[in-house]
Amino acid sequence: MTNKIDDRGRQVGGDGAEVEEEYEIEPLEVPAAISVHDLAELMMTTPVEVIKEFMRNGHMFAINDVVEHDIVTKIAPAFGFEVLSLEDETGPGSIVLSMEKEDPSQLETRPPVVTILGHVDHGKTTLLDTIRKSNVVSSEAGGITQHIGAYQVETNGNVITFLDTPGHAAFTAMRARGAQVTDIAVIVVAADDGIMPQTEEAINHVKAAGVPIVVAINKIDRPDADPERVKRQLAEHDLLIEEWGGDVIAAPVSALTGDGVPELLENLIIVAEIGEFKANPNALARGVVVEARRDKSRGTETTVLVQNGTLRIGDNLVVGALRGRIRAMFTDRGEPIDSAGPSQPVEVLGVNGLPEAGDIFEVTADEKEARQIVEMRQRQADIQRSSGPTLDDVHTRIESGEVKALNLIVKTDVQGSVEAIKSALNTLNTDRARVNLVHAASGSITESDILLAVASKAIVIGFNSVPEQAAQAFANQEGVEIRNYSIIYNLLDDVELALSGILEPVYRDVIEGQATVRAVFRTGRRQEVAGFYVNEGRIARDSTVHVMRGGEELHVGAITSLKHFKDDVREVGTGLEGGLMLDGFNSFEEGDVIEAHRTERVS
Ligand code: GDP
Repeated sequence: MTNKIDDRGRQVGGDGAEVEEEYEIEPLEVPAAISVHDLAELMMTTPVEVIKEFMRNGHMFAINDVVEHDIVTKIAPAFGFEVLSLEDETGPGSIVLSMEKEDPSQLETRPPVVTILGHVDHGKTTLLDTIRKSNVVSSEAGGITQHIGAYQVETNGNVITFLDTPGHAAFTAMRARGAQVTDIAVIVVAADDGIMPQTEEAINHVKAAGVPIVVAINKIDRPDADPERVKRQLAEHDLLIEEWGGDVIAAPVSALTGDGVPELLENLIIVAEIGEFKANPNALARGVVVEARRDKSRGTETTVLVQNGTLRIGDNLVVGALRGRIRAMFTDRGEPIDSAGPSQPVEVLGVNGLPEAGDIFEVTADEKEARQIVEMRQRQADIQRSSGPTLDDVHTRIESGEVKALNLIVKTDVQGSVEAIKSALNTLNTDRARVNLVHAASGSITESDILLAVASKAIVIGFNSVPEQAAQAFANQEGVEIRNYSIIYNLLDDVELALSGILEPVYRDVIEGQATVRAVFRTGRRQEVAGFYVNEGRIARDSTVHVMRGGEELHVGAITSLKHFKDDVREVGTGLEGGLMLDGFNSFEEGDVIEAHRTERVS
């Protein structure tokens, strides 16, 4: 069948009818080895469905079993996925599965999305206001400014989208929810104050996200402004500015007077050109919720940023586990519009429920599909979310190619210990695994640290530093591990152990066979032999046996003798009869159930 893309970006069959199952979805990157549970989550289905499909292909796996590529590729088509690439494009150890490949010829340049970050009072809000006032998108002039969480401005014919919530907490909260929204980060540093703790934090959050940085050296109108000092401080934080041979653009500005702001915008355009940010305006829209609030008369007002495709009135969409149909759309100037393309922020009406900032929205082919996806997501929400890494399982993840670096966030009591711990941790790096310090600073462990840990799959280490109450609760909820130390050697020992994989491995109990007692014989004074029939699996000489009667466990212990007819055997398989003696149990009854257990190493 030849499918085409219609003007709404949908795949249509030869007769023009929509092909429902061709729902557009991001390519999936599948690590070299992945658990059945994680694979199911990736393919948006349940582990049970995945296990069933494996069985149809002749493989038996349990939910926590780890499977490899060749097996994944066999079952992926049953879930509508096909293998897009093997290893080369995404680096070793990954395959990419996709339902629909984005056609490169459909891609068009889109405006960059910019977030402003920096220390409190360094001028983020003032800069956002100044940019907004002086660079209104001309076609929308005349409208009344609405604060919807994001806006667009025009500079020399180029459009830039600004997210209106400055600060790294919002930035990383989005990332922690899986949404990479920002293309360029502007870090504001007041020239009279220099780099402060929150500037450092912002730099680390942005670096962890791999987003290009432009520095705005602000308040240059102030008599005590010292831009040169800021440049030196930037260099100390590995941000070498262009005039000193680096690649970081630092633009001197006064957010208050507007001086230097046009040049800052020009620089953002240059960075955007280098970044070649593109999207397909002809696809079904997909993007991110920037903010949402409830209005008594209008219902939920949701500001979304379209990241790909074009959003239109009448579109059905899913947002997280919510559903909706677009009733109306408004620009950041409150003007009603019918459609919004890539990088455009719009306020939409019609979502049933209140989504959260950072939720991803996707337009579906029709209402039925939206319903199905929402139902599936609600089921998925019931399945336990996979938690972040712990020091104990880091080595397994390194081995499987899942983690090549151990991401750490370190908080200490005093600034002096930050440097000491940093350099000590660096000595632990090996060829196979290294420590990646996502963020290290003094102070207590905050919610922002936990957010960063979620977003960068990091472990939080407190050195004489305790988590704030809300941070601890948040960490528990998100499955982020916090480890506390007061002796540096203990800290280093644990990290080293994690890296070299000699931490206590994790074991689990598996049942490998089940049999029913059919007869009981006495051999010695009190010695009993149980004659059994294996219903399933096998009973092995070295199994640990659980004797069950009426659902109750009577005994757990080792086998002292295992026979098949007269012979001593190592195991008795399904459908066969045998006899066994147990160490310390001599009260068998006909009908008792014998379960053979084995302890298996998980990591
Ligand atoms: P934010 O906390 O980073 O959002 O900082 P604000 O934008 O609220 O600014 C903090 C204070 O610095 C306000 O009193 C601003 O008027 C002032 N301010 C911001 N930018 C400048 C500037 O370029 N020059 C001067 N002199 N003051 C500024």
